[in-house]
Amino acid sequence: MEKQDIVIVGSGCAGLFAALQFPADKRITMITKEIIEHSDSFLAQGGICVLKTPEDYQSFFDDTLKAGHYENRKESVDIMIRSSWDTIRELVSYGVDFARAEDGTLLYTREGAHSKPRILYHEDETGKEITSRLLSQVRSAHPNVQIIENTAMVDLICQDNTCRGVVIRRADGSYDIIPADYTVLACGGIGGLYKHSTNYPQLTGDGLAVCMEHGVALENINYVQIHPTTLYTKKPGRSFLISESVRGEGALLYNAKGERFANELMPRDLLTEAIRAQMAADGTDFVWEDLRPIGEEEIKNHFPNIYARCLEEGYDVTRECIPVTPAQHYFMGGIHVDEESKTTMEHLYAIGETACNGVHGKNRLASNSLLESLVFAKRAALHIIEHYTPQDGSLPAVDFSAYEPAETLAARRKEAILSEIRRLNEHEYQ
Ligand SMILES: Cc1cc2nc3c(=O)[nH]c(=O)nc-3n(C[C@H](O)[C@H](O)[C@H](O)COP(=O)(O)OP(=O)(O)OC[C@H]3O[C@@H](n4cnc5c(N)ncnc54)[C@H](O)[C@@H]3O)c2cc1C
Repeated sequence: MEKQDIVIVGSGCAGLFAALQFPADKRITMITKEIIEHSDSFLAQGGICVLKTPEDYQSFFDDTLKAGHYENRKESVDIMIRSSWDTIRELVSYGVDFARAEDGTLLYTREGAHSKPRILYHEDETGKEITSRLLSQVRSAHPNVQIIENTAMVDLICQDNTCRGVVIRRADGSYDIIPADYTVLACGGIGGLYKHSTNYPQLTGDGLAVCMEHGVALENINYVQIHPTTLYTKKPGRSFLISESVRGEGALLYNAKGERFANELMPRDLLTEAIRAQMAADGTDFVWEDLRPIGEEEIKNHFPNIYARCLEEGYDVTRECIPVTPAQHYFMGGIHVDEESKTTMEHLYAIGETACNGVHGKNRLASNSLLESLVFAKRAALHIIEHYTPQDGSLPAVDFSAYEPAETLAARRKEAILSEIRRLNEHEYQ
């Protein structure tokens, strides 16, 4: 392909928000592995955190650090919290419709480990609302951005620790290169490497794999979040999330005897441990979640998507409990980046779930990831604009046969990531 100014790998909220920041004279190509709507950003249910009032700063900061076991980078948390209102204003300017009271004031919900309600939401489809508005904005007002679907990045083009673009594989199996002055990795999490995950299966940590191979620094890639409550089913496929905000609004958890066994609003990692211990004690593969305390009207208004999906699976959550079980959900570690989302390779940035800027520490606080993705995507774009340096000169040769057969490459990379995660976990618990 012709040389681009910027190539963005991934079209979730991080990639789209970055694309929106570049001026009209920059030529941008976004590639995405499947169709655009198939990103985890479309799946986010609960909401997006915001600094509700200036007085809430310390409590928001403390909740984030406490959930993250105090392993968070404090400067990154500070940036995220202080940038939250500007981010929300920008989203509203693109038409994002957050829940409001009759007088027009914004409504806030609460999730586990938040000491107070500070989460903006749109029913139980906040991610779809945000990401589809970002997409419409890119399509309607940014003709300098082209989006190529069903196209995977299979490698970086690197020379002297500088990124010169990416190697791609199209849906028909053909290969090409996209040379670019700057490359932004926005390829999401790693749920596709796990048997049970709430993530899309194509999210297989490709950004991590290529960075590992080219010596780009990674950080805490064994920090993987398991969500305590996904709908239990014997069917294969993506696990359906029962958002934490249902517990924030009053849903309860019961053991096999129908008794409560844990504080439902504990941080995710601790609640997951409690549920697993209960399942082992009961000899079951699930515990029960009871949404009835929320009330029928609130269930149908605030959680219409969860209500409908559970009905499809044969459960009426306004009348009965549902079986829930933990599943892989989120990736706190990732490609190491600084506060401007720059990796250790020149001209290479990483944003969103694939990056680790240290906001989440060892465990993400609920509804911090959409905010973190957007805040640091914008910082990446602004940093690129400010320091823009074109790259000229001949590119290193690329041997496409090195990526064949595709299944072997995917299996090798999966094993490389999972064995590194295992190694780090063994090291941590020695
Ligand atoms: C069920 C669910 C509920 C959630 N709820 C919330 C919530 O309420 N609040 C919150 O803050 N967060 C929530 N999250 C987390 C949040 O949605 C994600 O962390 C966030 O959307 C990540 O955005 P992203 O742009 O980094 O990645 P994604 O949205 O996952 O996008 C990644 C993109 O990269 C593409 N890609 C991957 N590999 C390649 C490749 N090799 N080549 C080309 N393209 C590639 C994918 O196709 C995709 O387009 C939830 C997540 C899930 C799964």
